Amino acid sequence: MFDRPGFTTIFGRNLIGELPNIAHRPYLVVTMDDLWPLFEHHFDDHLAGPYLVNTIDGDELEDEVARLPHCRSIIGLGGGQALDVAKFFAWKLQLPLFQAPTSMSVNAAFGHRTGLRFKGNVRYVCWAVPEAVYVDYDVIQNAPPLVNRSGICEILCYHTAHADWRYAEERGKLEGKWPYDQAMVDEAQAVMATVMDALDDIREVNEKGIRALMLANRWGGAAFHNLGWNPRPIEGADHFLFYALEYHTGVKFIHGQPVCLGIYVGSLLHDDRAQEMLEAIVRAGVDIRPEAMGISWGDVSHALLNMREFVRQAGLWYGIYHDAEIDQAFVDTVRVNVEAAYQGVAL
Ligand SMILES: [Zn+2]
Repeated sequence: MFDRPGFTTIFGRNLIGELPNIAHRPYLVVTMDDLWPLFEHHFDDHLAGPYLVNTIDGDELEDEVARLPHCRSIIGLGGGQALDVAKFFAWKLQLPLFQAPTSMSVNAAFGHRTGLRFKGNVRYVCWAVPEAVYVDYDVIQNAPPLVNRSGICEILCYHTAHADWRYAEERGKLEGKWPYDQAMVDEAQAVMATVMDALDDIREVNEKGIRALMLANRWGGAAFHNLGWNPRPIEGADHFLFYALEYHTGVKFIHGQPVCLGIYVGSLLHDDRAQEMLEAIVRAGVDIRPEAMGISWGDVSHALLNMREFVRQAGLWYGIYHDAEIDQAFVDTVRVNVEAAYQGVAL
């Protein structure tokens, strides 16, 4: 099932400590200001400098490239943003790239392109294949549990992606370049099944759970390219709600929370195993209640009531949000169901 090649991925321990021995010198470590103090001691005199990410705006990053110190390789160290910016720099400067995710929050380590924002909208640009992705068990286990668990969003979203793909096909709205392909759907479903079978281990963030989620993300990260730059097998209504919430609120989310909310809402709109998806999200220990992600039900309501307009304006591929007439009663149903699912659940 993992027959489409993903990036070389190494599991183990003390993997960050070995990076100074292998990265071409001098190396630039692209990371975040809260992470750097935790990892600084691993690096030596060949460090060109830490680059602390403070933007994922594409135009701003173009200017940043000109100001980087001389370096001959790039090390990405962090969650999605650090790894994405590391990819962008490696691409702009044509330098070897080593990726070390510090959590399982997103599949950024395993994808060729970078999800940058241009005038507030996401665009996937660049091309970067790392020498290797280093998944250090101790490093991952040190990240906040919610951040790690929320990485299931990158896999469970296949469910809503496929529902949207079928929906568009049934209505004759499919793009000519992306005809419905049952073999691709089956392959993605097989990957999703490995994660659905590992929800308890992922919740625990034990080695088995880390391997299950990271290997699934390895497939998914490379899938956009491997499936011919076709996002339909891997993304749909799930991520669209996240994009809308980010656009409307300006909040910097833990990716998996709004995406998992999007998985549930999308499943409900499609009337396709919604309760099962919600239970899987709760079982993995991901909290999708708005207050857990720093927004309110009012924000969710605003985003949902305006989804039709949003997906059309953003030029997103055709799916349930292009047609669904979402009203306050639907939003209230989402709220009741979500709140009920977390009743008595300790996270
Ligand atoms: Zn995602």
